[in-house]
Amino acid sequence: MTSLAHLTILYRGPLSSCNYGCTYCPFAKRHESAAELEGDRRALRRFVAWCTQREHGLSIFFTPWGEALVHAAYRDALATLSHLGHVRRVAIQTNLSFSLDWLPACNLSSLALWVTYHPTEVRSEAFLARCRTLVDRGVRFSIGAVGVKEHLPLIENLRNQLPPEVYLWVNAVKELGRYYDSADIARITAVDPLFGINVTNHRSRGRACRTGSSVIAVDGDGTVRRCHFVDEPLGNLYTGDFESHLSARPCPKSVCRCHTGYVHLEHLDLDTVFGDGALERIPANWAANAAK
Ligand code: SF4
Ligand code: SF4
Repeated sequence: MTSLAHLTILYRGPLSSCNYGCTYCPFAKRHESAAELEGDRRALRRFVAWCTQREHGLSIFFTPWGEALVHAAYRDALATLSHLGHVRRVAIQTNLSFSLDWLPACNLSSLALWVTYHPTEVRSEAFLARCRTLVDRGVRFSIGAVGVKEHLPLIENLRNQLPPEVYLWVNAVKELGRYYDSADIARITAVDPLFGINVTNHRSRGRACRTGSSVIAVDGDGTVRRCHFVDEPLGNLYTGDFESHLSARPCPKSVCRCHTGYVHLEHLDLDTVFGDGALERIPANWAANAAK
């Protein structure tokens, strides 16, 4: 059993709808009823209350199956969590379509955003304007896009227009086999120097991974799993029985493809790359290096 000095939690409630309709999106194609949305809000409130009562340190990363910040309950949850002294970081994946007027309610020293750019859903000028507002307000964020080849000119344009201190990552399309040739990879690496990490399917079976010991994934019912990719439950957050199941254990999957997972693989040593920005995917010293 691991002693709980600090726990990183990836929270994904039942929410599975989005105000965007990206063709490459594997989820968020549902319309949710008022009752389903209320169920999601209830689960979120319970999770925030649990976090509020903890005494050990927490880092919390919301990884919704859809867009959460269009819902006031998520904006309120992030604001509340950001002000808790024992919360080191609270971050969320978002398409940045929400009202930015909510940001002053947050403690910006712990809040961070994992922003995704979807070229078919938002005009690049409008998206850039919102990014500049985040910069002006001192919000900590990264931006990313799916590396669809047809979108590369738009992604390159975004990189050229963004302030250099903002990190832009590119997620590799991995479902289509050998989608990229070496010229594609060189081109994307010019945008995202860390693309080589993401385009790799990391062999993980039997390798040490921090999930299941200092990192857990939690769903709306409070079921605790080690990560989003291993189904076996480790207990429940709200009964507390998960704590006795936290221990170092090797990965049971053959590969780990997603940043939210492989960043915890110990042999990759990505702590040295991302430092305390692993959740929101901001490389350590990125802004300082960009300013040189
Ligand atoms: S913004 Fe994200 S969740 Fe929404 S449709 Fe696009 S990829 Fe899916
Ligand atoms: S390496 Fe990936 S799939 Fe394996 S346990 Fe860690 S996060 Fe889960």
